[in-house]
Amino acid sequence: EPGLYVTATPIGNLGDITYRAVAALKNADLILCEDTRQTAKLCSAYGIETPRSPYHDHNAERVRPDIIKKLQDGAAICLVSDAGTPLISDPGYKLVRETRDAGVPVIPLPGACALVSALSAAGAPSDHFYFAGFAPSKPGAREKFLTPLANINATLIFYESSSRLAASLKAMAAAFGERRAAVARELTKIHEEIREGALGDLAAYYDDKPAKGELVVLVYPQDKSPVTQEELDAFLAAALKEMSV
Ligand code: SAM
Repeated sequence: EPGLYVTATPIGNLGDITYRAVAALKNADLILCEDTRQTAKLCSAYGIETPRSPYHDHNAERVRPDIIKKLQDGAAICLVSDAGTPLISDPGYKLVRETRDAGVPVIPLPGACALVSALSAAGAPSDHFYFAGFAPSKPGAREKFLTPLANINATLIFYESSSRLAASLKAMAAAFGERRAAVARELTKIHEEIREGALGDLAAYYDDKPAKGELVVLVYPQDKSPVTQEELDAFLAAALKEMSV
């Protein structure tokens, strides 16, 4: 079937890809890859022989018109990134937008995503969450980026590189106060680890023992008192009434 297939690939463990994604990759006319060498490993593991071409931040503007033309002519094209779900801190937004604007179907092929995997296993409150992506690396810009997030009543989720983790956790402790947090590292891989603690304690831990590999940071929402003032007032009023009878 013609269209753009936004195809999730594994975030580490090669087994984490769906039957549907493998079939789509095999049957497509073309696979657009963030890095063709990275996708070559996946293709060789699954016997996928579909032609591949690069689509990344540096060539996207130039190659997009030709891709849209192919899609309009009826091609089935898969878009993949190096890991996980395309468009999630990865290229593809403008391609999806323009494909839809051209009236060509865009079909999601769901699968692995680091932020969802981290949230599903860390034990952080999961009913509301805010994905903030990568914070800026320069201290001033990072502080500006983090400060307004303190008011969001949800678990905050960040992507971060291991080399910046300790500095980033320190900046988060300053911006958010001593909240509980988790670092989910190397998910689906051999050294998978989820470490929970107060932001300051985690910052000290990783300052002392620098983290390796890929990781997600989750900052839990500010602890709420389990009873609100209104509930407390109502309770006291009822108790007083009962006492006076
Ligand atoms: N599109 C991807 C997804 O769906 O999660 C994310 C791509 S983004 C460029 C790469 C970042 O995702 C890494 O720096 C890290 O923060 C996170 N990440 C990717 N794989 C991971 C893994 N196996 N464990 C923990 N974090 C991971």
